[in-house]
Amino acid sequence: MRSASGRPSPLKVKRDIYERSRQNMLDTQLIPRGISRPEVLHAMLTVPRHLFVDEALWSQAYTDHALPIGEKQTISQPYMVAFMTEALGLKGDERVLEIGTGSGYQAAVLSMIAHRVYSVERIGTIAARARKLLDGFMCSNVIIRVSDGTLGWPDEAPFDAVIVTAGSPTVPEALIAQLKPGGRLVIPVGQEEDQKLLRITKREDGGADTEVLGGCKFVKLIGKQGWQEARERASL
Ligand code: SAH
Repeated sequence: MRSASGRPSPLKVKRDIYERSRQNMLDTQLIPRGISRPEVLHAMLTVPRHLFVDEALWSQAYTDHALPIGEKQTISQPYMVAFMTEALGLKGDERVLEIGTGSGYQAAVLSMIAHRVYSVERIGTIAARARKLLDGFMCSNVIIRVSDGTLGWPDEAPFDAVIVTAGSPTVPEALIAQLKPGGRLVIPVGQEEDQKLLRITKREDGGADTEVLGGCKFVKLIGKQGWQEARERASL
């Protein structure tokens, strides 16, 4: 699943009929709610979100909602993608770890802003579909791996920023351990039905400061340091 890596990706995208929908998404959902960093807005304007969902859902791709992507997983609402991206405070030279590749949309947005994106997905079929899509945009600075992301990506650590796009009962220790001093971890933590979005900043002395950024609702982060798989099966 490895791909060549480079600078922030210019993303090769063709013109499409949803350009106005994307501009409208910025004007009605993102800018009025405070998304302001030009790099983030530019990425949201550029990445063709509709291609990350099933064709039957293209007409809903730019609405203010999460959408299903198969295997009971979802692509987050555009505002949440933009908000979490902005919360990472990226400047362009960072190595970012994403847990929960899903459709690959968040990774594509990050790829336009960060130097390199390491994205971990636990479901192989989902990861393969995301890889194919990203290859179609020549998005070569995203590297995808299939494994349990609650353990991070030890071989590539430390990271400047970590983003978790699934809800966890607690903060996985490994993700803080794999942050550089000054690095930021943005993660939804809480119950199955609702979580708080936390930003945890690692201090130079190894400690960490936590801010609550707001409420949110994500699918479950399943793994050794997240929700247990057995419990997930039992609840099906
Ligand atoms: N960022 C995605 C949305 C992710 S949905 C996007 O832009 O579309 C959450 C994803 O997290 C799902 O694909 C789910 O399979 C994955 N996931 C859940 N637990 C995981 C774990 N422990 N490691 C890696 N991926 C996980």
